[in-house]
Amino acid sequence: MTWMQRTEVLVRGAFVITMAGCRDARSHTAPAATHGVIADGAVHLRDGEIINVGSFAELAAAAPEVQVVGDGTGVVIPGLVNTHTHLSEALATGMGSELSLFEWGTRIIGPLSAALSAELAREGTALRAVEMLLSGVTCVNDMFVHTAEGSLASLGVVDGLEAAGLRGIVSYGAEDITGLDATGDPQRVLEVAAVVAEQYALAQRCESSELVSFRWGIGTLLGQSDELLSEAVSQCSSHGWGVHTHLAEVREELVLANARWGRRTIAHAENIGLLDQPLVAGHAIWISEAEIDTLATHQVGVAHNPVANMILGSGVCPVTALRHRGVAVGIGTDGAASNDSQDMLQAVKSAALLQKVNARDPWVMDAYDALEMATIGGARALGLDDRIGSLEVGKRADVVLLQDSVDIAVLHDPVSQVVYGASPRAVAAVFVDGRQVVADHRCRSIEEAEQVARCRPLAAALAAESGLARDGFSLYRGQL
Ligand SMILES: [Zn+2]
Repeated sequence: MTWMQRTEVLVRGAFVITMAGCRDARSHTAPAATHGVIADGAVHLRDGEIINVGSFAELAAAAPEVQVVGDGTGVVIPGLVNTHTHLSEALATGMGSELSLFEWGTRIIGPLSAALSAELAREGTALRAVEMLLSGVTCVNDMFVHTAEGSLASLGVVDGLEAAGLRGIVSYGAEDITGLDATGDPQRVLEVAAVVAEQYALAQRCESSELVSFRWGIGTLLGQSDELLSEAVSQCSSHGWGVHTHLAEVREELVLANARWGRRTIAHAENIGLLDQPLVAGHAIWISEAEIDTLATHQVGVAHNPVANMILGSGVCPVTALRHRGVAVGIGTDGAASNDSQDMLQAVKSAALLQKVNARDPWVMDAYDALEMATIGGARALGLDDRIGSLEVGKRADVVLLQDSVDIAVLHDPVSQVVYGASPRAVAAVFVDGRQVVADHRCRSIEEAEQVARCRPLAAALAAESGLARDGFSLYRGQL
């Protein structure tokens, strides 16, 4: 049986963490694992759907002929939702890691994005999909950015996600102007019509995809002309498309937005009607109390990227305040500009640690909060919480089994162990929409070693063709 065929299975664990419902009472002195956790539990998957969740004994008695995955020693969780990354940077990890975000945009993204193609997009996406699947990700929200006009490179992401069997939301976040320099006039790098044409092509490509859907991408508001921003609002209004953007990531953004529009980016987004579209915003770090209320009022979802924020020293997203006001907050890895790893488990752990050290209070966020954001919270932020994000009957069968490794061996508190202890070596099985894409700790959809071998020369060629090797950002010089 190939991985493409959906399997009917019981996924069994010493604990099943369902993430169903909300915690109504919290106790930080007792193990977090008292809510929505089933001991010696199982999840029954059939035809891509979760049809039962409960004790293993009951489920096995009801369906004795069904194959069991898991020996009852591990932990079963909903598939993790990576709410923000850039697969356009999939082959650029390690380049200029210590540059600031603005420097990275100018010195790396500019040359890189001009050299991207649909083939590089497909292969890079498949490579990082392996990394994501092996860290428990079953759904990713991506923003591809390139300026290779007419290449339709972003469509390659859909091919890569489909090859990997990973659920995804794709967007094309190209910027049509270099809008980051307050001292000079913005320069046009792409025609508005070219950006709109690729948005349409990507949306159309997704219509024929089973697991991949479309959002309109806006890299940053500052990087787009007013003409393109108003195009985004009118197109999304008429088509019902959601939007994926970055918002309030670094302080410079506020200064430059004030210089350009006389208001900060969130106020400008509200003013032009962008917040009236289903919007998921990466970062939301430099935001005021009033702006938190604005995001809550407009039901904007926030993608929090703790590793990326720490690497760039961008600041700390007020996650607790956002969540208390009812804003849906998910966790993302972000891309190579700010995180050279797509290991979602690192991001989940970092989300809790960053809030604790920032507040100098270990109780400000616990392991359950972090896992909630990485699963049902991310699903809410993306408007997919009726389909994924928790282990409940009727939802799609996106399920992860952690088992067989030392980091998941001792389970006094399975929620804490998953968040603070688990690494990709614990990821034993992954199901996306009922298809088993990881079995026995190996990716079945993409052969890892083959994909690495395929991508190594592509990364070297990209470094050469973009000029980034010549500029000293890659040691692959001439090693094709
Ligand atoms: Zn980003």
